[in-house]
Amino acid sequence: MNEIIIENAYIAPVAGPEIESGYIRIEGDRIAALGPGPAPGGPGGATRIDGTGCLATPGLVNTHHHLYQWASQGLAQDATLFEWLVALYRVWAAMDADVVKGAATAGLGWLALSGCTTSSDHHYVFPQGRGDLLAASIEAAREVGIRFHPARGSMDRGESRGGLPPDVVVERLDDILAATAAAIEAHHDPSFSSMVRVAVAPCSPFTASAELMTESAALARAAGVRLHTHVAETLDEDEHCMEQFGMRPVDYMEKLGWLGPDVWFAHTVHLRDADIGKLAATGTGSAHCPSSNGRLGAGIARVPEMLRRGVNVGLGVDGSASSELTLLAGEMRQALLFQRARHGPDALTARQALELATLGGARNLGREDELGTLEPGKLADLVLWRVDGPFTAAVTDPVCALVLGPVPTPARVLVGGRSVVVDGELRTVSQDAAGRAGADARRRLMRLAEDTGR
Ligand SMILES: [Zn+2]
Repeated sequence: MNEIIIENAYIAPVAGPEIESGYIRIEGDRIAALGPGPAPGGPGGATRIDGTGCLATPGLVNTHHHLYQWASQGLAQDATLFEWLVALYRVWAAMDADVVKGAATAGLGWLALSGCTTSSDHHYVFPQGRGDLLAASIEAAREVGIRFHPARGSMDRGESRGGLPPDVVVERLDDILAATAAAIEAHHDPSFSSMVRVAVAPCSPFTASAELMTESAALARAAGVRLHTHVAETLDEDEHCMEQFGMRPVDYMEKLGWLGPDVWFAHTVHLRDADIGKLAATGTGSAHCPSSNGRLGAGIARVPEMLRRGVNVGLGVDGSASSELTLLAGEMRQALLFQRARHGPDALTARQALELATLGGARNLGREDELGTLEPGKLADLVLWRVDGPFTAAVTDPVCALVLGPVPTPARVLVGGRSVVVDGELRTVSQDAAGRAGADARRRLMRLAEDTGR
């Protein structure tokens, strides 16, 4: 069995007290023990990693993303969400499996480099005859080596039905349900230590019909998988829901049977007190994406209020087209700064921000028994952050250095005990090749979009 001992690290387990200088023993893909001082019994035959100058945290969990958007970064830079979507739908309509594979390889590699060990991906554009896009993203995750929660997204409410997207990027309800069931059957692994779990994820209230939302919920619940969608991201969405459904987004979700402990929503920026109460009472989670909300001028989510009332909050980078090269680790700082700018310096602590990025994320994905904290029996998904650089070493609190400072280099990123990043470099795939795959995906998508537009 693969045995690893990390020693001399500052350990922030998220659950339980921090350890100033301690060890973590890993056996196979699990954490076997951790504690202060050197590892009892010595290294034996274990691989020893010296964590001197490093902070050990649980691996970060990304709970909202659109990996394919790596191929469409930097477009419609000053647009509102709805303007931005309308500008991009026609570009995305041209994507194929090669675009998705390249974009996902770059996007997941980039996530791993900022300490992400588990990522979800909400893919909701499936143009016909363009290959198996979901399988392409799963293949990329397998190569990069991080845990992956592909959410099979969908849209069936095109312009002709009062929705936002052009009809060319939406699918028929029956086709969506069949493809989603097939994706669960082919890829979903519910086991402890699973590397791939599928979720069901109609895109949003303004792109999915009520029937698609309710049928999707029934399908997911019958299959025992989770539900995800965008909710209350912008005031435009509020207006759309009032106009079309006569109620605001969270009420609409409630009516459709879309609140519950198996559901997590992206954004939840525009919530009334009653909405927060509903999320708390039903155990519905939130994926907070502060950089994307800032980039699109969407607003600032009510994170402290949600936490105070017991709503689970995780973090997300959101798609690269609305937040470009967002580092997941950097979202801890962005979340903290937004809340402090609005509510004052005690609105969110560095340790709370770390908890959002780890345990909060694990809960959103239904994996708090496996991930999100450093505890014996949990999976050995962890990051050793180098916090002893010539400049960062002056910060004596390593958690403060991680959250409030510039994102440190990960000396190691382990997923199930496997080294995905060593000394700030990807080890599972060539870092240069992963970067090139993303750039190639962009060129390919722009060429395909030009061809189809002609
Ligand atoms: Zn999104």
